Amino acid sequence: MASKKPSVRHPSHSHPLRSHKAQVEEEIICSGCELDLTGAAFKCTKSECDYFLHKSCFELPRETRHKAHPDHPLTLLYSPPYESSTYGCNACGEYGSGFVYNCSICQFDLHVGCVSMPESVEREEHAHPLTLLYCSPYQNGLIFHCNVCEETVPDHLWSYYCKECDFGTHLHSCAEEEEEEPKRGGGGSGRGSESNGGNKGGRGSANSELAAMLEAQREMEKMQIELHLEMQRAKIAKKARKACLKLI
Ligand SMILES: [Zn+2]
Ligand SMILES: [Zn+2]
Ligand SMILES: [Zn+2]
Ligand SMILES: [Zn+2]
Ligand SMILES: [Zn+2]
Ligand SMILES: [Zn+2]
Repeated sequence: MASKKPSVRHPSHSHPLRSHKAQVEEEIICSGCELDLTGAAFKCTKSECDYFLHKSCFELPRETRHKAHPDHPLTLLYSPPYESSTYGCNACGEYGSGFVYNCSICQFDLHVGCVSMPESVEREEHAHPLTLLYCSPYQNGLIFHCNVCEETVPDHLWSYYCKECDFGTHLHSCAEEEEEEPKRGGGGSGRGSESNGGNKGGRGSANSELAAMLEAQREMEKMQIELHLEMQRAKIAKKARKACLKLI
């Protein structure tokens, strides 16, 4: 394990880290933002530990302010503050299990990647720059369909919009949605694990019973999370709608 690179510490992880140049082909997920790891990064020095961080995630400030949530600062947490170990991002609506910018007063949570989405983007799908909205473009009861993937976008989620053309899309590029879906939804896949593989037990009936029980338990947990998120969203949506109407 001898290496000339000096090791560094990050409060999110118990082992020292070392700088790492990540290649796309490695298909590694950042343990912080849970997105693909490319470019300058850090890697855990323990060979059995698959903890990785983008350099940019390594350097994230512990506290930030965001226009989408003007009343309170957001605190960077290295794991979700909820019993479920997941959170629903108030910007994109996807689950997260890594780093999160959190307002504990409002239970408002943002992916670290969503926090840094630019206020204006140019996308292949549209000739004009699109403006970031902290809600759907329609606040008059009309259902908003993403003009790229045709899916409905709930009106409390962020969107990109060209007012001139009434062209709006999901926050994140949805052209490759099918490829990205498993990674984002996977949650745990990006997390560092201290153990070397799980229980490789056989297929006996005791095992399948246990599996069924665990499955039921997971299902229950999922329902509880959904419920929690619904309540959380309803609360925030009301507030966001007011703020948004001022923007449009
Ligand atoms: Zn990252
Ligand atoms: Zn480690
Ligand atoms: Zn998000
Ligand atoms: Zn708040
Ligand atoms: Zn879309
Ligand atoms: Zn346009």
